[in-house]
Order: sequence, then structure tokens, then C-alpha cells
Amino acid sequence: MTQLLGTEALRAQLTGRVIDHSDLDYDAARSVWNGDIDHRPAAIARCTGPSDVAAAIAFGREQGLRISVRGGAHGFWGAAVPEGDLVIDLSDLRGVSVDPGSRRSWCGGGATLADLDAATQRHGLAVPVGVISHTGVGGLTLDGGFGWLVHKAGLTVDNLLSAEVVTADGRTLGVSAGKHPDLFWALRGGGGNFGVVTGFEFRLHALGPLVYLGLFFWEAEHGAEVLRLGRNVAASLPRDAGLLLAAGLTAPLAPFVPARHHGTPGYALVVTGLSSAREHHRLIAPIREALPPLFELVTPLPYVELQKMLDSAAPWGSHAYKKGLYLQELSDEVIVVLTERIPGKSSSMSFIPIFSLGGAFADVAEQETAFGGSRATRFVVNMTAIAPDAESLATDRAWAQSVWQALLPHASESDGYVNVMADYDESLVHVAYGPAKYQRLARIKARYDPDNVFRINANVKPAPQPTSAAHHPGGVEPE
Ligand SMILES: Cc1cc2nc3c(=O)[nH]c(=O)nc-3n(C[C@H](O)[C@H](O)[C@H](O)COP(=O)(O)OP(=O)(O)OC[C@H]3O[C@@H](n4cnc5c(N)ncnc54)[C@H](O)[C@@H]3O)c2cc1C
Repeated sequence: MTQLLGTEALRAQLTGRVIDHSDLDYDAARSVWNGDIDHRPAAIARCTGPSDVAAAIAFGREQGLRISVRGGAHGFWGAAVPEGDLVIDLSDLRGVSVDPGSRRSWCGGGATLADLDAATQRHGLAVPVGVISHTGVGGLTLDGGFGWLVHKAGLTVDNLLSAEVVTADGRTLGVSAGKHPDLFWALRGGGGNFGVVTGFEFRLHALGPLVYLGLFFWEAEHGAEVLRLGRNVAASLPRDAGLLLAAGLTAPLAPFVPARHHGTPGYALVVTGLSSAREHHRLIAPIREALPPLFELVTPLPYVELQKMLDSAAPWGSHAYKKGLYLQELSDEVIVVLTERIPGKSSSMSFIPIFSLGGAFADVAEQETAFGGSRATRFVVNMTAIAPDAESLATDRAWAQSVWQALLPHASESDGYVNVMADYDESLVHVAYGPAKYQRLARIKARYDPDNVFRINANVKPAPQPTSAAHHPGGVEPE
């Protein structure tokens, strides 16, 4: 009864809808991408702007509810929608505007990658984001953001110019390198710890609209050769290209796959050419020559289609688990671990995507952003268990953990990328940022969220309050 009265009070304060268990669409509203998560929040506040967000924060604090933030709901452990508490849902904040002259884009805090790509590509421009278009810009950006453009233009967060943030005390701040620079640094990698981002402003890059795809697939017995070939391609990858090595991929039921190969287990290399057809062909010709593939798809395609190409490999409602790490090199020892362990998975949807890093990603100085990983890293490896139901996922969760354990001695950093953390554990957050970045984040957290209102996330605990002499409100964080 108290809860119902509370929800009514919140409804009265918000322009947007407040959804609770009495609403017919409660189940749809509480669902997240990972079908393995089944949380029942007390209320979901569909905020329409900063004033709704401030009202919802104040309400949650008064009622003693924990507060979560939902962007695109693709977080692996379901932090966006907690059991029994209040969700600040940004899924109505999906507008995107583009200023082609200044090459800037403003994007709502609840937009998906598809929203952002569609609006920017109308002008032949793009923000580097992830590779599955239904992912949320919010969570992806605040922890980093890898994708096809990482060599060309770095992480999503490297292209953040400013943000509109509602803080725990209900203030709406414009945050950039010139305004609240400490908070601006923390937002670029520190996740949802510092406030609710209602809008992101990004730098845009000229791209497309046509880009070039080279997808090559081989049977499982060629796994080691494919990974060595991928290693060679990565070593000299130009900035205008992207590379994904897909270990343990099952040939999809796609029109470009000959029917006799549907469901064949194997390995793939996916090269994306971001400049000209000529450059793309120059890059992919040696792949075919070195190891003739079982089948291939080499074609120009619109960038927005490239961004949707993998969507069906990870549909909404999939039961999923992930364990990631970073590698400095794809050594022969790593290749042995991967090829020996791939057959241990049971779901045809599970696989190990390995993204090549470098170029613009490596240009950014280690301390320039709060990103939880070294800029010297060459590969991000995600042991990805995806299954249609909870039972099959249980088997592949154990598989993902065992491959991760076996790779750990070869890793430059374990659990470096906060965004693929599927088991939330406080100690992993320390590992991800390392002591210096964690402490700097904790000091900034103490300034903007001293009561740890935003704690349902990869949580950075507020540092003990500084003395007034050592306090630098809104200023540049001392090293
Ligand atoms: C199918 C799939 C594909 C993926 N592909 C990639 C990829 O190619 N590259 C990559 O780098 N990552 C990728 N990821 C990881 C992805 O970046 C993270 O899961 C990310 O957290 C998703 O963000 P979201 O907004 O959709 O999720 P949510 O679950 O809504 O948010 C996750 C957390 O981010 C915070 N948050 C989100 N929005 C805001 C906001 N506006 N203000 C404040 N806090 C906010 C909250 O703390 C929230 O708990 C992928 C994940 C999935 C499931």
C-alpha cells in the first residue's frame, strides 16, 4: 500500500510515465536484453528530460529506494533494472540532432546505436560506436565503446565533447573540458557512477555512406591457421579499417552462406574497409591467397547496414554471459588455448569475438580519460556465452569461465573492460581501473555523489571527504 501511494506521488511529479506492477506493460518495461535476468523493480520512471530525472532522484532518495539508470538495457548483469527498487528509464530520450557544419551531434541519454547511426549517416558522418545496433549509447559510451571505427577514430568516449548530467543532488550540469573538467574526465570511462547523462555531444567523422565488407569463413580444423592469419592482418591494419576475429563461430543461416554450410562450426575473419574499394581489395587479397576460405562475403554496403549485420547473432531476450580480458599479443600459446577449448561450448550461438585495437585508440594518453584499460592493448577478447534458454547457458557459462581462466596467464589485463563485466564483484572494479584511476574516480565521486546514490553499477565508492584546504570543487583533479 505504501508503495502504491509512493508510485502515485511520483506520477504526480513527472511529465513522463511511471510504470509499476499494476500496468499491463510492466513486464515489457522491466525486461532487459539479457533474458537470463528477471528483476521486478518497484517502479520504472520514464523520464522525458532533466527535470523528470531530478524529480525521480529526489523521490528515490526520500523513499530510501536504490536508484538505477536504464539506457539501452544491454548491461550483462541487469543493473539497469534492479529487483525491488526505482529505475530511471531514459528510453524516451532517444532524439539525435546533427550539425554537419561543426561536425557535432547531440544525442539523448537513452538512444540506441541505431538511432545515432541513422541520424549521423544522413550527412555522411559517424560516431565510433559498437557493432550491434540495438545496444544503448549510454552504457556503451560511459565505459568506453569499441567497434569497427576504433582504429580510425578511437573509442566512443574519446569522441565525447560534452554531456548534460543530472547529479545526485538534482542539479543539471553542462559538463565538458572547460566546465567541471573533473566530472568530464570521470564520465569518459567511469560508467554511471557520477550522475544521469540526459544528453551526449559527440565529435563526428566523415564516413561512407558506403563501406566495404570482407567476411571469410573456414571450418574448425583450420582454427589455428585462421588466428595466425588474423594476427598478421592485425599487425599492419591501416587506420581506415576494422578487424574482428571470430573464434568458434557457427555459419549462420544467411543468404550468402551456401545451404550445405549452414550450421558448420568454424572461424571467421571480418575486415571492414572504411576508405575506398581499391584499398579494401588490397587489404583482403592476401587473406584469400594465404588460406582459401570455405565461403566469403566481399561487398560494398551502407555503413548503417554494417552496423546491423551482427544484430541477429545476439537478439533481445538471449540468455547471455560474458568474461573478457585484454591481450598484448595473440601468441601461439593463446591460439593453442583457444583452439583446444572452443569445442567445449554447447550452444551454436556462443563464440569468442576478438577485436583488434590500435591506431587512434592508441593515440590517447593513458591518463587522458578514465577508461579502464591500457591504450597499449592490442586485442580485446570476450568469451561470449549466448544460448536460447537458461539450461544451455549454464553449460556455456562454465565454458566461458574455463577459457577465461586458461587465458589469464597470457592476459595483459584481466576484466579490464567494465562494459563486459557479467558477474558484478567490487574487487573486479578495482582491477579494471587500477589503483591510480580508481582513487581519482573515488575522489570525484565524493564530490558529486558523496552518498553513493548511483551505486547499482560497476560501483566506485566515494573517497573519504577531503578537508576544505584540499577541496577542488569542479576544478581540475590534481594528479
Ligand atoms: C549484444 C551486445 C553487444 C555489445 N556490443 C558491444 C560493442 O560492440 N562494443 C562495446 O564497447 N560494448 C558492447 N557491448 C557492451 C555494452 O557496451 C554494455 O553492455 C553497455 O553497458 C550497454 O549499455 P546500455 O545503455 O545498452 O545498457 P544499460 O543496461 O541500460 O546500462 C548499463 C549501465 O550503464 C549506465 N548507464 C546507461 N545509460 C546511462 C546514462 N544515460 N546515464 C548514466 N548512466 C547510464 C548505468 O549504470 C547502467 O546500469 C555489447 C553488449 C551487448 C549485450
